[in-house]
Amino acid sequence: NLHTAGAISITGVSKSFGKLKALDDVSLELEPGSVTVILGPSGSGKSTLLRTINHLERVDEGYIQIDGDYIGYQRRGDKLYELKEQAILRQRINVGYVFQNFNLFPHLTVLENLIEAPIAHRQLSRHEAIDRAGELLDVVGLRHKADAWPRHLSGGQQQRIAIARALMLNPRVMLFDEPTSALDPELVGEVLDVIKKLARSGTTLVIVTHEVGFAREVADNVVFMVDGRIVEQGSSNQVLNQPRHERTKRFL
Ligand code: ADP
Ligand code: MG
Repeated sequence: NLHTAGAISITGVSKSFGKLKALDDVSLELEPGSVTVILGPSGSGKSTLLRTINHLERVDEGYIQIDGDYIGYQRRGDKLYELKEQAILRQRINVGYVFQNFNLFPHLTVLENLIEAPIAHRQLSRHEAIDRAGELLDVVGLRHKADAWPRHLSGGQQQRIAIARALMLNPRVMLFDEPTSALDPELVGEVLDVIKKLARSGTTLVIVTHEVGFAREVADNVVFMVDGRIVEQGSSNQVLNQPRHERTKRFL
């Protein structure tokens, strides 16, 4: 399951909500299979950045490419045209997204949570979906919970299921927005372990987290954001061990 795809290129992206500039001229280049951790204080634009990568937020300026495909816009000649809904849906297949709050469907079993959308959207046959779900439940160590209801699982187990669900279509890129922030401390490790496994699989990962120890272990690159801007980016070793920016130093 080794990808050679998953390069992300973010060029001059800005995004405002009214007068508030949530993203201010953000540029970032991520190599296929790389693991990037985004750090920064609350309100610095981390979630907005992830949301723009997955078309959940429209950019005001700049553009984002995944393996050369424009997110939100496509270029023809020297003009940018906004992508149609169908093209956006096609691209979203290549990006898995995991939120703080799991968002499992409460009225579906674990297995149904995994297979429902890919079957409904005709992305996988029922047979393929069940096979793939079985493999992924093994990856997250929860095959024995296939027929359980989400409410009977711990938060850590629910988040591991949410990760498996995001992997169903074998995305080139996985985005994590504070995947352990809603968990009891004793359940954080089991979710981070699954993400570490993914980090070794060749999928490009972008992870917003406050777990600096985890970032040290797993990140190739670390990005530090303040007020919608990237104030520091570099190798994990450089940013975490020799931070240059005053705000990064204070944060760590
Ligand atoms: P972070 O994830 O780093 O905490 P966010 O990206 O969620 O930051 O938010 C960045 C800024 O944009 C914050 O000031 C937030 O209040 C604002 N913001 C985010 N989403 C919206 C929205 N949909 N409408 C208005 N303001 C928003
Ligand atoms: Mg956030």
